[in-house]
Amino acid sequence: MALKTAQEYVDSLRELKTRVYMFGEQIENWVDHPMIRPSINCVAMTYALAQDPQYKDLMTVKSSLTGHTINRFTHLHQSTEDLMNKVKMQRLLGQKTASCFQRCVGMDAFNAVFSTTYEIDEKHGTNYHENFKKFLIYVQDNDLTVDGAMTDPKGDRSKSPSQQSDPDMYVHVVERRPDGIVVCGAKCHQTGSINSHWHLFMPTIAMKEADKDWAVSFACPTDAEGMYMIYGRQSCDTRKLEECASVDVGNAKFGGQEALVVLDHVFIPNEYIFLNGEYEFAGMIVERFAGYHRQSYGGCKVGVGDVVIGAAALAAEYNGVEKASAVKDKLIEMTHLNETLFCCGLACSAQGCKTKAGNYQIDLLLANVCKQNVTRFPYEIVRLAEDIAGGLMVTMPSQKDFNSDTVVGRNGETIGEICEKFFAAREGVSTEDRQRVMRFLENMCLGAAAVGYRTESMHGAGSPQAQRIMIARQGDIEGKKQFAKEIAGIE
Ligand code: SF4
Ligand code: FE
Repeated sequence: MALKTAQEYVDSLRELKTRVYMFGEQIENWVDHPMIRPSINCVAMTYALAQDPQYKDLMTVKSSLTGHTINRFTHLHQSTEDLMNKVKMQRLLGQKTASCFQRCVGMDAFNAVFSTTYEIDEKHGTNYHENFKKFLIYVQDNDLTVDGAMTDPKGDRSKSPSQQSDPDMYVHVVERRPDGIVVCGAKCHQTGSINSHWHLFMPTIAMKEADKDWAVSFACPTDAEGMYMIYGRQSCDTRKLEECASVDVGNAKFGGQEALVVLDHVFIPNEYIFLNGEYEFAGMIVERFAGYHRQSYGGCKVGVGDVVIGAAALAAEYNGVEKASAVKDKLIEMTHLNETLFCCGLACSAQGCKTKAGNYQIDLLLANVCKQNVTRFPYEIVRLAEDIAGGLMVTMPSQKDFNSDTVVGRNGETIGEICEKFFAAREGVSTEDRQRVMRFLENMCLGAAAVGYRTESMHGAGSPQAQRIMIARQGDIEGKKQFAKEIAGIE
């Protein structure tokens, strides 16, 4: 089957009976909802760019399973070059949307579940790998968006899944039938949930024998019976509901999306089960998925960073200070930080290796170092962007004021004319362009897009401490002690 166009992707969402709630009510036409649509446009961009001859080599690839041309977002990486191309593709998408384009969580889940199911079958004689391959061929051939769902609510963090007073704090099996399982629970802050055709659920922590019923991985359609989503709020999100606020929104075209995904007794047929009680493999899926997604941040956040740097440079230009050496130096620093993240994304890809199942995995230590840097550098980049932009990005009157005919001046000037006069940019630059770049920076630094560029940089793909645990595990301090001993002459 052919790759979907962006329009076909949007139309395909309309065919689903996905249950979405927001502000305490069910949203019937969520595809056209002004708060949701920008996030759909973002995913649609992963389809649009795959149709563009200019980006064909980056966005499309031959399937290792069928030989068909597929979107790279559904691909199993076959080489370190594939891993690097993935990062480059994500940077491109970041540059085109300045948002989280959501489709990577599925790609990262495919690669983690593909390699782990192979190893589960090898040990237990199960049939998960074949199940998964069939599912993935269906996804590739239909060019579907799949949400990789990992983060459980977790309840009391000091207790394991089986010790929680409410067993639903982690997704778990409540009934085993000859033809499948019934699952309950939820996944939190789930990126791109509503915009996906299917979900691929995975456990969120390593588990012990007592947690067997929680060691479960499976796929299900987004509109499965018993499944629904409660939409997550973002800073300044209701600006998208205001009339005539395209400037105030900052990025009216694109945005990210998170939701609480609830599984209320959802039936999963056997063919869509990829882990069911083999608890010792829960940790492997988590580690691999997290590794891939930490690599991803060395691409997507860099692309968004490119747009932030560009906007800061424009703000300086519109204010007439672009030649000041202090401004130039700040732009250099922002670029240096951003490219350092890209280096990390490429490095963990270049150092990748083949898994037993045959797909390629990133270097886990370097992927964790990549993400650890992402928990810091975008904060410094937005700090410098705010520094360059000046306070106007948060103090400017609304677009309605700029458009207003209400007379306020002694000489009959309107509110719009007064705003125009006092917020004028340098000569040759329209006030509206200055407004736009300021509002865009506001959106990136502390508005809705800051979800994707700031807090997601901190907590997405695991909070900083999760990377530090992996760095401790992978850092080989013993080996390093040995280097020191040998040179220092210590027996
Ligand atoms: Fe993709 Fe980045 Fe969004 Fe994750 S945070 S889904 S890697 S764009
Ligand atoms: Fe993310």
